[in-house]
Amino acid sequence: MKIVMLGGPGAGKGTQAKQIAAKFNIPHISTGDIFRANIKNGTELGKKAKGYMDQGLLVPDELTCDLVVDRIAQDDAKDGYVLDGFPRTIPQAEALTKALNARGEALDYAIDIEVPDENIVKRMGGRRACLGCGATYHLMFNPPKKDGICDVCGKELILRDDDKPETVQKRLNVYHDQTQPLIQYYSEAGILKEVDGTKDINEVFDAIVLILEG
Ligand code: ADP
Ligand code: ADP
Ligand code: ZN
Repeated sequence: MKIVMLGGPGAGKGTQAKQIAAKFNIPHISTGDIFRANIKNGTELGKKAKGYMDQGLLVPDELTCDLVVDRIAQDDAKDGYVLDGFPRTIPQAEALTKALNARGEALDYAIDIEVPDENIVKRMGGRRACLGCGATYHLMFNPPKKDGICDVCGKELILRDDDKPETVQKRLNVYHDQTQPLIQYYSEAGILKEVDGTKDINEVFDAIVLILEG
């Protein structure tokens, strides 16, 4: 099963993608996580990506597309995957379609998690992220068992720099300009499914499972 997650920053893509990956036993591929890991490890890619990310801007397509095309060609992705945070622009979507077509493959679902901007701004201040393993929590809606500590790997949780309110507003603008057109793109491809992302985490997941098993 090949899935892409759509939705604004903080819509819940990562939260849902992790659960989908676990239930259907496919890899969760998050470009945001890949960039953050590269920044942490001080790679060339990380150095290039950081400036864009800190400003709430998208990393250029040239740095992003090949990375994903290579990743989905790996062995663990042969039965499918859930892409989280990619594609984010029409050229990225076209690059993905082209790479899949070249192998006689196609995506099965594009799941758009719909959340109004007002809710997103409120949500982001409460997000806490683990840089160790990529797990994500929310102070109110999905708290870790121990304050400030990752349930999965025991490392410290942080508020991402780009989750501060000024940057969140900028990321929302970038989303509306550059990413939202993908909804039309995948609607025309006949694979778009929409879910109400304002419901609680488990309800959103149930709605997604209904789609994927339906
Ligand atoms: P969120 O889950 O809150 O939307 P991500 O972790 O997906 O955030 O992305 C964080 C940042 O990483 C983005 O604001 C952007 O700078 C960069 N990024 C992630 N994926 C992409 C992509 N496909 N294209 C360009 N930039 C990306
Ligand atoms: P995205 O990957 O789309 O940026 P996340 O999955 O990281 O979004 O979720 C953003 C924040 O909102 C996190 O703190 C997460 O725990 C929380 N969250 C995710 N889904 C919900 C939901 N349905 N209701 C309330 N909070 C949520
Ligand atoms: Zn962790």
